[in-house]
Amino acid sequence: MRMRRMRRNQPLRDLVRETSLEPGDLIYPLFICPGKGIRNPISSMPGVFNLSVDEAVREAEEAAQLGIGGLLLFGLPETKDEQGTGAWEENGIVQQALRTLKQSPASKKLVLIADVCLCEYTSHGHCGAVTKSGDEFDVDNDPTLELLARTAVSQAKAGADVVAPSDMMDGRVSAIRKALDAAGLKQTPILSYASKFASAFYGPFREAADSAPQFGDRRSYQMDGANLREAMREIDLDIEEGADMILMKPAMPYLDVVRAARERVDVPIGAYQVSGEYSMLHAAFEKGWLDHDRAMLESLLGIRRAGADFIVTYFAKDAAKLLG
Ligand SMILES: [Zn+2]
Repeated sequence: MRMRRMRRNQPLRDLVRETSLEPGDLIYPLFICPGKGIRNPISSMPGVFNLSVDEAVREAEEAAQLGIGGLLLFGLPETKDEQGTGAWEENGIVQQALRTLKQSPASKKLVLIADVCLCEYTSHGHCGAVTKSGDEFDVDNDPTLELLARTAVSQAKAGADVVAPSDMMDGRVSAIRKALDAAGLKQTPILSYASKFASAFYGPFREAADSAPQFGDRRSYQMDGANLREAMREIDLDIEEGADMILMKPAMPYLDVVRAARERVDVPIGAYQVSGEYSMLHAAFEKGWLDHDRAMLESLLGIRRAGADFIVTYFAKDAAKLLG
């Protein structure tokens, strides 16, 4: 046998290619901030910005034109408080963005996904309600569920096609499903961040979303990076509670977890190529150590090959331009 027979030229290689990567597989994250005409660069993430709503509309138009599958929206509120009120306010920053985006023709071609979490909106930067006694603190699970449910309902009402809880509280998917149904939003799907690991690779995101915890860390709710079986239990529970799709995060250091999930469940699976994955590649590009286009596409193809149906990535536009 000579394996090289099938690698001889591009048409042959195209014919036997096992994994595809298309613009429609990609979801582009946007960080929405108050104001007008604002494009604030994130220093640790070249090419990524905090965008005011009008600028986000321009990004949406470009994304739609490139054939990108959808947008994932995060918000930077004007003010923060203990509870994270800005997450569910009628006129919250993401709600404003959703309403405006929905009026743009671009939204007909894009799935608008709203991240459901409190960490961008709480003064302490944790993903839920915090109770403190002395030096000890706890992110209080059950009171948080109601706040998350309120957030999801308000985002869906504002025009989110999909809500995506990323907080890792127990029971949030069923709480959100119940609240959506009760609000007459039975058709709004839930994309749950089912297995989200406590990762160092989120570092640059916290600059982008201004969501670094002011004390402690997130290891009491996000998962230990050592645990694949625990990730499978998280996924099973989220699906049981009514998740329509699941999202795994980070991607590259956890490709085995994506593969295991693919083999275990039949719901659509997304993987999030997180900020640190993007930033470290960019650092290598800047030094001229890696080829931008090839390394970017290879990093995305690897995630698809591991079993992800779609990929949330800051490379969405750059990759779509090459793939289109
Ligand atoms: Zn959070």
